[in-house]
Amino acid sequence: MTRIALRTLVSALGLAALSSRARAQADTSNTPTLVVFLTIDQMRPDYLPRFEKQLTGGLKRLYDQGAVFLNGYQDHAITETAPGHSATMSGRFPYSTGIVTNSAGVEDPLAPMIGGGGPGASPFRFRGSTLTDWIRLATPRSRALSVSRKDRGAILPIGRQPEEVYWYASDGRFTTSTYYHDTLPGWVQAFNAKKIPETYAGSAWTLLLPAKEYPELDSVDFENGGRGVVFPHPFPANPADAARAFMAYPSMDSLTLQFALNGIQSLGLGAGPVTDVLAVSLSTTDAVGHAYGPDSREIHDQILRLDRYLGIFLDSLFKLRDANRIVVALTADHGVQPNPWAHARATKGVPVYVDLEPIIATTAERLAAHGADPKALRVDESMVTVDRDLLSRAHVDADSLLRTFANDVKQVPGIQRVDRVKELTKRDTVTDYVARRWLHMLPPDLPVDLVITLQPYAYWEGSIPATHGTPNDLDARVPVIFYGSMIKPGKRDDVVRVVDIAPTLAKIVRVRPTERLDGRVLTQVLR
Ligand SMILES: [Zn+2]
Repeated sequence: MTRIALRTLVSALGLAALSSRARAQADTSNTPTLVVFLTIDQMRPDYLPRFEKQLTGGLKRLYDQGAVFLNGYQDHAITETAPGHSATMSGRFPYSTGIVTNSAGVEDPLAPMIGGGGPGASPFRFRGSTLTDWIRLATPRSRALSVSRKDRGAILPIGRQPEEVYWYASDGRFTTSTYYHDTLPGWVQAFNAKKIPETYAGSAWTLLLPAKEYPELDSVDFENGGRGVVFPHPFPANPADAARAFMAYPSMDSLTLQFALNGIQSLGLGAGPVTDVLAVSLSTTDAVGHAYGPDSREIHDQILRLDRYLGIFLDSLFKLRDANRIVVALTADHGVQPNPWAHARATKGVPVYVDLEPIIATTAERLAAHGADPKALRVDESMVTVDRDLLSRAHVDADSLLRTFANDVKQVPGIQRVDRVKELTKRDTVTDYVARRWLHMLPPDLPVDLVITLQPYAYWEGSIPATHGTPNDLDARVPVIFYGSMIKPGKRDDVVRVVDIAPTLAKIVRVRPTERLDGRVLTQVLR
């Protein structure tokens, strides 16, 4: 080959490379530059149609103009905040993310919070990857910001990558742990210096609309432990106390969204050309739902206020960045069941609280009588584990112990069923939602022998006024909403899972998941 021919070939190859680069640029010209992923802690999908006529803000925009699934499910058994958040952006169930309960969620004494104000936290228990990892791999310049009142709400949607992850300290600051930073960045310090929560001292949470717009009774004696059950709900008069109490008020969600907007501007997120991620988990619906219940006037007002805050947030964001290049997704980490007294009143029944302590005590006595360690059977939330070494040393048969324990528990009113974990795979997981949700829950290396499921509407003894955590539909059902110029709007009846969100967003931002997912792309929402 002559020198000239070689040069021609090289320049032709160069041109080819150039034109393929130009093509790649053309292909990505309408790829979103920002994924906004919103989690509403304890949001039941029925709140949307229930309060629809009074929505005017961000929830209205998403409900009217988004692709809306009210039959979304956190399709796993322990419907708590940490496992729910681990499923959102990973596209995988908790058996795969390794996040099984709140108590074994993100707490990590080796990663203390900067400036204190709560336990240390990190994603060290989280296994595998998330949407942020897949985007980062495709475009290393992409960045992610995650914000919540709660550590687990901020940490788990992002996974293990040390991105910009912030949550609320009990003294009124947003901070992070040493897993992410050694000191707080200037923009976070500047936001904290405004001391916004302190300015609420002496004011009160009042109704947004005139009282006649709320059909719920205000004075309900079983709300909030019987204390402060009517509007207005005052903030403490002392500024430091107001900052601490702030977490349980609607304005906490407003503050979280203001902080997120501040972060978008300070970090330059969503300005292109690559795709960035903003994850926001809003926690007050959970606080208000626990204290007052899903049927309260307080949850009604919280949802209306959340709608207004989200409206201001989205309007502000669309002024800062091109709305056509933003995709928004919204879901919840779990739902909630009514307060047992509220349910009993509505159904003319009796509240059902389940107490297993007497059975656990009798079992311990039986073990001791056989010369076995009484701690050889452990009950952790609704999971039961036996220590086979301890039992065999005392010649106690593990299977017959488990059988006796399970039979005793099954007799207790409010217990739906008790399953041997090794039997769960024999069930029809299409129709048996309890078996399916437990199978989606338990990592294969977690030693659990039995799982206990409450009947719908039954509560564990000692539960706070209203709560969640079971595999039953009121706890598992959540909204799943997509919104943006690339989304086909409309209300849909199909059953979808929260694990379907991450693969769908990955498709929209044109990246490939780097591992096998449990979720699938919801092609029906794509334009
Ligand atoms: Zn909760």
